[in-house]
Amino acid sequence: MVEVLNTVKKSKARPGVGALPEGERPQSLYAARTKIFPKAVKGFYRTLKTRFAWVALLIYFGLPWIRWDRGPGLPDQAVLVDLQHRRFYFFTIEIWPQEFYYVAGLLILAGIGLFVVTSMFGRAWCGYGCWQTVWTDWFMWVDRKIEGDRNAQQKLDNMPWNFEKIRKRGLKYLIYTLIAFATALTFILYFADAPSLVYWFFTGQAPFVAYSTVAIMGFITWLFAGFMREQVCIYMCPWPRIQGAMVDEDTLIVTYNDWRGEPRGTRGDRKRHKEIRHGDCIDCGLCVAVCPTGIDIRDGQQLACITCALCIDACNGVMQKIGKPEGLISYSNVKTYNAHVTGQLKPEDQKSFGWRDVIRPRTIVYLLFWLAIGTAMFLHLTLRERLQINVVHDRNPIYTTLSNGEVRNGYTVRLLNMQLKPRVFRISMEGLEAGRMRILELNRPAARSFEVEVPANKAKTLKVYVTADPARLKAGRVEFRFRIDALATDSTPAETAYKRAVFEAPGK
Ligand code: SF4
Ligand code: SF4
Repeated sequence: MVEVLNTVKKSKARPGVGALPEGERPQSLYAARTKIFPKAVKGFYRTLKTRFAWVALLIYFGLPWIRWDRGPGLPDQAVLVDLQHRRFYFFTIEIWPQEFYYVAGLLILAGIGLFVVTSMFGRAWCGYGCWQTVWTDWFMWVDRKIEGDRNAQQKLDNMPWNFEKIRKRGLKYLIYTLIAFATALTFILYFADAPSLVYWFFTGQAPFVAYSTVAIMGFITWLFAGFMREQVCIYMCPWPRIQGAMVDEDTLIVTYNDWRGEPRGTRGDRKRHKEIRHGDCIDCGLCVAVCPTGIDIRDGQQLACITCALCIDACNGVMQKIGKPEGLISYSNVKTYNAHVTGQLKPEDQKSFGWRDVIRPRTIVYLLFWLAIGTAMFLHLTLRERLQINVVHDRNPIYTTLSNGEVRNGYTVRLLNMQLKPRVFRISMEGLEAGRMRILELNRPAARSFEVEVPANKAKTLKVYVTADPARLKAGRVEFRFRIDALATDSTPAETAYKRAVFEAPGK
């Protein structure tokens, strides 16, 4: 890795991004942005990147419109963050606020997933899956459709403002704005019923927070994908800094094989300096021209490289044209690179990567870890109980002595029916043999158990009074349990839950 990082040669990369030649110091810590106009490229990785982007965009824009029947009175949106009722719905899964640890678990899974991908392919996530990459790529596609490819864009940029420039830039910014608006509008659809919210939004009936969120999200999309682009990856995102700890000498990274390409030389250089045995790099600069972050991969592995591999496509096209084998820039690892540099591997031994380069002990450990957490979460999710009981003892008064000499304690009991069907819960007491309870909302004589119907996906709060004759108590403070039995129905299984409680009486 050190050798790759130190592979510093003359570069056409934009200032401030690539590695500086040895001994040279930056004149200023601030580097003005050099405009980047990436050239369109065709090839395997370009196609792969486009397909990933399509899938990501289809998922993002399509998910809020998928319907999922959960029964009467319940939201029928497959993926919904219901802030008003504090629920998260994901197809058959429903998360209550107290189960938020599942979301934390999902974030941990996503984090380990990133570890796995990074240890296999470096920053492939940045190059293919990240929000910033996908939207920036989309905006760059708009640039090309309206202004043309790299040269035409550069020409237009250098042109003084005239009718053509105003027309093209105006149209481009209008399309940027429409994409940013659609992105932001879709974002809020994850938080309410999508068809209703769209109707309310365009008829002026949506809440203020919906309009303000669309304005903020739209502006961020417009700014990040339309203008800041690679600066978000290079200066704002922490991931490039963290990834250094995850790659090792076996990790596949986009590599310029300088053992094969150097000394580089254009056709003119080759004619002028026949005494030099030039390498395969014809110094055409196409790998730099297609790079969305404007760097020169020939300077070695850099923080700004998002591993999109578009330079591989560009260089492979050049190699085909000049009749040389592909792979001057390729996915390779430091081990293989060093073996070529030191002569352990001959140029003709160069090969593209195989499954052994990806499935290694380290990635297997990551994968097993990922699978173990994923399986544990899945099992916990499927087997979790769908009823809960919370009990809070009245604080003031702790107990009341009634006119007949009995002592009464008050409790606030909250029953949670987390199934998407209404259920009958039997609430009873275990222990405190002398006690009986009365439920204020039921208006029935005191007894040791009651049945209460709790609507689907709702909590029911009851005021429960427990009375007991203090003469029959062994102590002034008696522990007992509330027991809740959810009775089985055709579609829901029987379940039981307990909650400890204390009955207070005058001390003995
Ligand atoms: S595209 Fe290939 S040949 Fe052209 S400059 Fe880049 S590495 Fe050299
Ligand atoms: S150097 Fe190559 S892989 Fe890295 S960002 Fe540029 S085009 Fe993508």
